[in-house]
Amino acid sequence: MTGTLSVVAVPIGNLEDITLRALRVLRTADRVACEDTRETGKLLKLLDVAAPRLVSYHDHNAERRIPGLIEALEAGENVALVSDAGTPAVSDPGFKLVRAAIEAGVDVVPVPGACAAIAALCAAGLPTDRWRFVGFLSAKAGARRRELAALAGAGETLIFYESPHRVTAFLEDAAEALGEGRPAVIAREITKKFEEFRRGTLGELVADPGVVRGEVVLLVGGAVAEVAGPADLSAVVERLLAAGLPPSKAAREAAKETGVTREAAYAAVMAAKEGAS
Ligand code: SAM
Repeated sequence: MTGTLSVVAVPIGNLEDITLRALRVLRTADRVACEDTRETGKLLKLLDVAAPRLVSYHDHNAERRIPGLIEALEAGENVALVSDAGTPAVSDPGFKLVRAAIEAGVDVVPVPGACAAIAALCAAGLPTDRWRFVGFLSAKAGARRRELAALAGAGETLIFYESPHRVTAFLEDAAEALGEGRPAVIAREITKKFEEFRRGTLGELVADPGVVRGEVVLLVGGAVAEVAGPADLSAVVERLLAAGLPPSKAAREAAKETGVTREAAYAAVMAAKEGAS
């Protein structure tokens, strides 16, 4: 009997976000493969999980570590894979081990839980029917701008991870490539003490991005096809209101995007709000 590789999500800040199942799987695993044994050791202590055997597994040692982990799984050991925060394999190491386990005929099971992208999306107020997880863009300005330009036509809500010191540059490049009027959200320090969801258009967030500290997920509303005239006004207004813009800002932005007067846009905002209530 081979063992099972469990892909276990851990909290992204608030320890209460560990699941009961994750606790059980971590307590009963023979080995826990983790990015940083010290970090995971600390986390397990806080969660009151008696430290099982911790094995370091990260992008730089994956090729070396995989054979030993697969051997252990084939010998019947249960292995839990975790990353420093959130869901393994989502902008984190894990994929190569998961693939190797599948190729070896080992069962791979997800133990779902916190993920910064999903936590940000569900509270952002941008459309959730279709979304695209982009993750980290290139750290180099030229490549980042090209990547953003390639996303300009995407109709779905876009979700990015970014390091705190590049948020301002990201917003400026995104406003340039996607348009200042796009609704956007900075989701900062999710589930932590200084959690903040900052909503506005890309232009507004460039002008006032708030605290430039802490972990962030950036979300941008998708492109709206053919937003050119009064016929599209109500769709634009609904999108802006859904993005959390207050009525006056939504009217200003809708007027800019559709070319109608501010008064007409404001009337459409009021009509949409009445319709919704
Ligand atoms: N595997 C993780 C997950 O499931 O979300 C993501 C790991 S990735 C290396 C780290 C990035 O996730 C950060 O740079 C940030 O963009 C985002 N992130 C992680 N925790 C966060 C939090 N509490 N608040 C906002 N963003 C967070």
